[in-house]
Amino acid sequence: MFRKTVRGGVHPCGHKSLSNDSPIRYFPLSDTLYVSMQQHIGAPASPVVRPGDHVLKGQLIASSQGNISAPVHAPTSGRILALAEHTAPHPSGLPVLVATLEPDGLDEWGALNPPSDPMALSPEEVCIRIGAAGIVGMGGATFPSAVKLNLSLNSQIQTLIINGGECEPYLSCDDRLMRERATLIIQGILLMQHAVQAREVLVGIEDNKPDAISAMQQAAQGSGVQVIPVPSQYPMGSEKQLIQQLTGIEIPAMSRAAASGIIVHNVATAYAAAEALYQGKPLVSRIVTLSGGAVTHPGNWQVPLGTLASHFLNRASGFNEKPARLIMGGPMMGIQLPDLNVPVIKGTSGILALTENEINHTNPGPCVRCGNCVRSCPMGLLPLEMAANIRSGELKKANELGLHDCVACGACSYICPSSIPLTHLFNYAKGELAQQQKARQKMENTKVLAQRRERRLERQAKEKEALMAARRAAAAAKKAAQQQKEEA
Ligand code: SF4
Ligand code: SF4
Repeated sequence: MFRKTVRGGVHPCGHKSLSNDSPIRYFPLSDTLYVSMQQHIGAPASPVVRPGDHVLKGQLIASSQGNISAPVHAPTSGRILALAEHTAPHPSGLPVLVATLEPDGLDEWGALNPPSDPMALSPEEVCIRIGAAGIVGMGGATFPSAVKLNLSLNSQIQTLIINGGECEPYLSCDDRLMRERATLIIQGILLMQHAVQAREVLVGIEDNKPDAISAMQQAAQGSGVQVIPVPSQYPMGSEKQLIQQLTGIEIPAMSRAAASGIIVHNVATAYAAAEALYQGKPLVSRIVTLSGGAVTHPGNWQVPLGTLASHFLNRASGFNEKPARLIMGGPMMGIQLPDLNVPVIKGTSGILALTENEINHTNPGPCVRCGNCVRSCPMGLLPLEMAANIRSGELKKANELGLHDCVACGACSYICPSSIPLTHLFNYAKGELAQQQKARQKMENTKVLAQRRERRLERQAKEKEALMAARRAAAAAKKAAQQQKEEA
């Protein structure tokens, strides 16, 4: 096995012990669930139910739209109360369409029809069923898994990598999942291997999770799946770093891993795939880590999708002090929430309530050119130079320096002794550049449409002129023939 120390990275305090000893518990149903139509990257799902409808657990309530999307299923049985907007778990706080569901308390599954032998299905059929189960990247990326698997079918995948890194501080949901449900994860991994016809499977797990490594190695015995400890170093869980660590292959800038014959999926995604194909269950709940210094009882819970974060936190734990910051996901790459009035979605790996002591309140100072950010960047970028260009409005130059390759891991911001919010600057600049690109594209489209219209008008004028000329010629010929007739 080729193993190589990856570039950059930092070692933030893990805070894992707050929750990693807590076995997964089932969170009870709330009185109302707010099931979002936008729980994935891509187009929102389109509702197929109406207010007043009764639904069973696992029933399709919204279908996927377009090429990149994922369907949504009822997290329990009950009545659809409304289809209305609700605050999204997103920094913008903008609303999204949600189906409000009143559970009937029976938690009654609809018909579950798993195939008798999922491994006997064709790779295409496995992808279709994973897509129909609404499975998305559960590590937080929320890219529809079937779309990713399908893209790989054309790319001659050699290696399937399963990401069990969970390098974000505080989070331990994947750790617990691997310790408690390794057999089903391995079944899901083998299905994914079958779906992309990969020759080998490598599971990377950070070496600060010895129990998860041991459980997964035991479950993988005889399957051909290799479970490999990787160093605990943030952001080891990011795709390019894990690939480099496990294979030695460095994915070039602006290139997809699939182009190098590699595809990466998260352990929880593999677990969801196994539940879908072996049990016929679509994705209706997920494991969420509840943690942070302000939380009285940190732990890991299997939570129905659509549960309000406020209800989850209050019922599962409560606060021992007023939180200074609320985060959905991990503290490095998660989303800072204005409040907890947002539902748990497919990408919710954690809900954190951090104290004043746990967050950095230092005001940003001037850059002291220490170079820490450069050494920590896993993508080999020059964060200080990119930031200087962004601050002086030179976004294009920042992009030329590799801004488009920044994975927003937050390692540079974390290590900066001057507390410069580098990652925020990069996210802002990427947003601006995307807007500019959109505006340019719109102008280009308008120009093309105007040129087409001009050409069409020109052609119509020519056709009209030709018609008139033909008519004039016909009239002249008729007149001449008439004259000849009269003279004869
Ligand atoms: S880590 Fe901060 S202070 Fe040091 S070079 Fe980078 S931006 Fe400047
Ligand atoms: S946030 Fe971007 S620039 Fe900063 S360390 Fe991560 S990849 Fe590098």
